[in-house]
Amino acid sequence: MKINEIFYSLQGEGHFAGTPAVFVRFSGCNLACGFCDTDHRRGEEWGEEAVVAEVLRHPARHVVLTGGEPALQATASLVDKLHRAGCYVQMETNGTCAAAAEVGVDWITCSPKDAPVRLARIDELKVVFLGQDLGFCSRLPRAKVYCLQPCDTKDAARNAEITRETIEYIKSHPQWKLSLQTHKLLGFR
Ligand code: SF4
Repeated sequence: MKINEIFYSLQGEGHFAGTPAVFVRFSGCNLACGFCDTDHRRGEEWGEEAVVAEVLRHPARHVVLTGGEPALQATASLVDKLHRAGCYVQMETNGTCAAAAEVGVDWITCSPKDAPVRLARIDELKVVFLGQDLGFCSRLPRAKVYCLQPCDTKDAARNAEITRETIEYIKSHPQWKLSLQTHKLLGFR
């Protein structure tokens, strides 16, 4: 599997924000979103045993499979090895690959982009909000947690406006809760 990087930090956003986690960032994505702020294109080939060994060098047992799009490469055997090592496995996916729900991860965080979602199961729906119509969410599998995250436009004034809109939306649609990119706000990765 082609891995961009493996690093240890805190989960910065969504339901598990603040949780110490080892991030396994897979290289490559099937989408090309204009606002993508992740450098996921570089990568090196890793074997599954080497990935697990690198994860286990760190003390936390919460593992985040991310990318890029992890569902393009993550396998049931990798997830099984992580489970046997005592890890809880979260996947952050754009939801376009049905395979994400089939590799046995413990928690699927789906962050839909401008493409059809093909997942049969979603644990956490995390939507980057820019004031768009969220009607499509009611046609997706029911999630346990709904997180609405203000889009980072890189413009401080516009970001403040979007954050206000996000908070107002959540107050009138209380199935949602606010997700902030705390790693950006607090300056950790
Ligand atoms: S789905 Fe995510 S990783 Fe892929 S291009 Fe879009 S923002 Fe970037």
